[in-house]
Amino acid sequence: MSSPPSGPGKTAPKILKDFLLFDPLKTAPKRNLLFDHPPPVGEGQQLAPQIGSCKHEYTTKTSQSVPPPLDLRPDVTTQYKIATLCKKCRVHADVRIDYARSNNPCPNSEYPLHHFQRLEQKPDDTTRDRIRYAWRCSAQQCQASLEISFRLGRLTTAERDLLTNTEQLKRRYEAVVQENPDREGIRQATPMEALVRLRKYVKDSLNSLHGKRSFPANNKRFMEAFGVYGQDCKPLLERLGFKYAEHEWTLPSPPPLDDRFDADGSSQRELLEDVEVELLSWMFKTSSETGAVNPAATDGWPSADRDVERTLAAQGYQRQATLRRAAPSNDELPYYASLGALPDFADSLIEFAYDRQTMCDPSNLPYYFEGLQIITESRGTEQLQMRTATLASQDVVSRRDLSAAYRFLNIPQADAKNLSDERIIELFQAQQPDLGVVAAEEARQALNKIGTARQSQLLINASRQSVDTYEDALSWLGNGASKDMSDDSLLAIVAIKTADNKENETIAQKAIATIASARKSNMLNNWLLTGRTEGYTMNVDEALRHLGIEQSLDEIDQTVLPVILDSARTDRPGDTTEKAIAAIQQHLAGRTSTMSRSPSTWPVGLTSHGNTCYLNSLLQYYFSIKPIRDIILNFDKYKLDTAVYAEKEERVGNLKVSMVEIKGGQRFAEDLAHLFQRMIKEPGTAVRPEEDLVCRAFLNPQDYALLASSAEPTVNGDLEDAVDHKLTDAPNGEDAGAASASADARHLSNASSTTLQASVNGDDPDVNMKDGGLPPTPPASPGQKPVDGQQQPTKPPPLPPRHPSATSAHAKEKALAAAKTKATQQQDVAEVHDDIMFRLRSGMLPTGEEESGEQKDALRDLYAIRVTETEVAKGVTSKPTPAVESCMLLKVPTEPTDIYSSLDALFDLQPKETKPDTEAYKSIRSLPPLLQISIPRIGWDHNKNEGFKSEEFVRLEDELYMDRYCDTSHPQVPERRRRCWGWRKELQALKNERKALSQTSVNQLDGPTAMSDTASYLNSLQQANSTLREVGMDEIEIDEDLTSTLTSTAQEQQARLSELQAEIEDLQKRLDFQFEDLKNLKYRLAAVFIHRGTHGHGHYWVYIHDFANNIWRNYNDEHVSEVTKLEDIFEAKTWNQGTPTYAVYVQDGKKEEIVQPVCREPERAPTPPPTQWTQAEDVQMQDSGLLRPQREENFVDPKMVEEGGQSSWDVTRQVADQVKW
Ligand SMILES: [Zn+2]
Ligand SMILES: [Zn+2]
Repeated sequence: MSSPPSGPGKTAPKILKDFLLFDPLKTAPKRNLLFDHPPPVGEGQQLAPQIGSCKHEYTTKTSQSVPPPLDLRPDVTTQYKIATLCKKCRVHADVRIDYARSNNPCPNSEYPLHHFQRLEQKPDDTTRDRIRYAWRCSAQQCQASLEISFRLGRLTTAERDLLTNTEQLKRRYEAVVQENPDREGIRQATPMEALVRLRKYVKDSLNSLHGKRSFPANNKRFMEAFGVYGQDCKPLLERLGFKYAEHEWTLPSPPPLDDRFDADGSSQRELLEDVEVELLSWMFKTSSETGAVNPAATDGWPSADRDVERTLAAQGYQRQATLRRAAPSNDELPYYASLGALPDFADSLIEFAYDRQTMCDPSNLPYYFEGLQIITESRGTEQLQMRTATLASQDVVSRRDLSAAYRFLNIPQADAKNLSDERIIELFQAQQPDLGVVAAEEARQALNKIGTARQSQLLINASRQSVDTYEDALSWLGNGASKDMSDDSLLAIVAIKTADNKENETIAQKAIATIASARKSNMLNNWLLTGRTEGYTMNVDEALRHLGIEQSLDEIDQTVLPVILDSARTDRPGDTTEKAIAAIQQHLAGRTSTMSRSPSTWPVGLTSHGNTCYLNSLLQYYFSIKPIRDIILNFDKYKLDTAVYAEKEERVGNLKVSMVEIKGGQRFAEDLAHLFQRMIKEPGTAVRPEEDLVCRAFLNPQDYALLASSAEPTVNGDLEDAVDHKLTDAPNGEDAGAASASADARHLSNASSTTLQASVNGDDPDVNMKDGGLPPTPPASPGQKPVDGQQQPTKPPPLPPRHPSATSAHAKEKALAAAKTKATQQQDVAEVHDDIMFRLRSGMLPTGEEESGEQKDALRDLYAIRVTETEVAKGVTSKPTPAVESCMLLKVPTEPTDIYSSLDALFDLQPKETKPDTEAYKSIRSLPPLLQISIPRIGWDHNKNEGFKSEEFVRLEDELYMDRYCDTSHPQVPERRRRCWGWRKELQALKNERKALSQTSVNQLDGPTAMSDTASYLNSLQQANSTLREVGMDEIEIDEDLTSTLTSTAQEQQARLSELQAEIEDLQKRLDFQFEDLKNLKYRLAAVFIHRGTHGHGHYWVYIHDFANNIWRNYNDEHVSEVTKLEDIFEAKTWNQGTPTYAVYVQDGKKEEIVQPVCREPERAPTPPPTQWTQAEDVQMQDSGLLRPQREENFVDPKMVEEGGQSSWDVTRQVADQVKW
């Protein structure tokens, strides 16, 4: 049997209609009206009868037909057949149906009509004169087989002409007359008579009861029509079975046929039956053409249509109510055809046709649904509207809606099948930010339709904004979010998605909760809890993921790990990267958590507010230096009593300070004291500095009042004071202006003066707030740093007085936001240190006054370095000029160096930039307990015109002797210094020569090697020439002198290099030993600030020496750990050691008295690491009872919840549960 049917079908009435219109003589390939299916609307030409097709008038050949009885249901034995002939084109068409496969034939309650799917054509279906098509009903219980075959007419055109041509009939008449000149009544036959006579013979033949089976060949009427003895038509007659013998014609006697259903037209009886009907059709035709009377007209030409209709069980189907029926438009007609339906179908049959078609041809469901929609829209009936609405709610998407969806998302539909679901989500999400609420919803519906049509759960979930699975959450985030993406990148995407659309926040949290749970990510959980990405401990898995490392730590070759980490640092510099690297290093070092240390003997860490690691480092430094800590904690003893003093004459940083700045400094000290109290008393391993404190480090003091709303009542008085003073103490604005300018001058010390002037001169009330937004860390250029008693900053003109209302709520917000932004941008440790010292000192009571007017105070006494500068011009040495410096500002290192060489470069005799033909050198007059040395790392690349970070090695000495810079420390110092200056000049010259000789443009070759290599190459060419000679080719010209010159020069230079090396080493040795015996001014390294990263990015931490316990500690935000490898401090030159950027030495004799990093009196035992969320909450509540309420209500010290292995998983789940939606 043929293969089972597939694809779309046609209902029986549709087949009937197509059958009646189909002309088998007029078909085009693939465009068979009956057998083919129309292409979807818009995808090709619709099927229609070919031009010139016959408008058939089929009549039933009753003798050949087995029509269905009127009241019999078919069973498996049932088959029907209707044989027809078209009156016009004389095509015979047989319609046969066979119920051999049927259990429950259509129509029945479920299937009101047959729905025929076509069967493949078989090779013998098409012969020269016949073609056959077959279908099967798609109803499983019916499976009725339908076959429609067409056959050409039996009589040819020539045969018809033979019978009806009047010329021929005339000749026949004449021949008969000639043959029988005496016979009377002979006349010429008409065409009609010829047809009628043949039909009479054929009918008689078919009638077995007809007794007279032969007739004489010379029958007058016979000869008139068919020629003498019928000779003219003998071939035709014989083809039909007539026999001529002995002047007699015998009629054919075809045997009866028992089984009409099986008859295939090959029998003689059928031939004669067909001819009989054909002759009748010719008679009708001849009558209409010639006006001759058709004697058979009364027989009529009964239409076969009803018989065929009943055979197909297509009769009496339910039609649309006539009243409602509107003629379907040309636009919708093709959709009926596509559904295999007719426009007069009742709604229920339209639904039936839709159901059958979508069942049989599901791949075109969207198209069929489109058809249903269009028919529904045209009819507007409740039944169809209900149906389409139901389908839509079941996520059926029509073709046109799908197209509209693609159009809405700007995705060319033609490309869509080549696009991955992920790509479609990307395109969808790319559009989201530009859409309003309504359009965004439409876009989601569009994505949903596409997802439904593509049967993609991913797209559907994305459209529903489902983020319940890891995959859905990632695809909701979009923007390339993937499982490999680091946590902070994901959070960056969240920031993008929520920036313009607050509605996204809830779902973003949900998405991150899902991802956090899948990744077990502390960082993401921390973000969910606190809204911050800082202040958590990164686990190793997170760290690897952040760095984009796919292997596990164990799989990575430890020797290449540094390279991997280093490139990660280059690729994405930042705090998180540093944190990740630290996590990996800490993991590798197998260090135990600081949690295990006793809180009373171990310093507390400081949790970062974003990028505030630089500030944390400084705060740890201040805390560790006991005299500074004591000043802060007892600031009342040191502060200027503003009730007594109305102003301060002494200058701070060579600037006059206003009352606002005085009070501001005191307020800042108060903040700091509070923090220090917490650092002493809180039992945890880390403390988070208050946001106010962080902001105050960057707010102009007159803006401190902005923080009033968030401050506690006890200090409100002070703050109001501050505001009052702002208005009353500075009526002419001079003080405020100066204060503001001084702060600006500090922040912008290296920025262009235009920026400074512009910001100070502007009369915009926001001017100070604008200043808050700092440019990136400016390039340091020595000499521009504010230095006590030395710098003469260009003082900008005072600001005009400000009207109180100028500080609008808006301006407040801006100022505060600017301060916060600034605080969380990475700042230069040295600058911030300067600024904090300025603030604190502003609030202090002067203990005296320098000649320059600079305030002396307890704080400054700790680090003020008294120096002198001596100028030498044309051999004349001038009187030394005294100055006081807060630190030793080294030059940006441009080559590997050490601390002594760097200090030499500062103190040695050198040309004075500001005075031509003048040299100058510095000497130390007296040294402070704390020797602060700033090692600027940000240089200015004049070629590229941009800042760069110098990572050149600067070796730090644990013990530093300052005798050599102090002319008065020993009688020989001045003389030895001068000697050293000479040697160093010599040394520099030798180094320059060595550099010139050894550096070449040839990669990794020094000069002599490059030259000798070149000579060898020339020699090899000479050998090549001998080969060339042998084969008869031209030689390469070589200057033989050049080769020997090169060789000898290389040898000379090599010798000179060795010489230079020896001289350099000798000089260096002499220099090193010059002060070996002068070691009275001994300092010890106490603290080193380290920066790792690039210009503007990176991470700060500080090492502090605990002399009493003889250990170094690393203060890295919330982590405080012991340093086991001291070379990390003194020899820091590798990627993971970072670069020292500020070093503090302490007087050896006072080191234990001054540096006291451990100062803890925990007020209660630390809370054990909780394993449940509720415990974490307890911690927070207990904390809030301490000292001051915590400002971030949601804040839970992450360390408290994440310590203890498995607990972090519990926390993860708890966090996910906490986020409600
Ligand atoms: Zn026809
Ligand atoms: Zn059926």
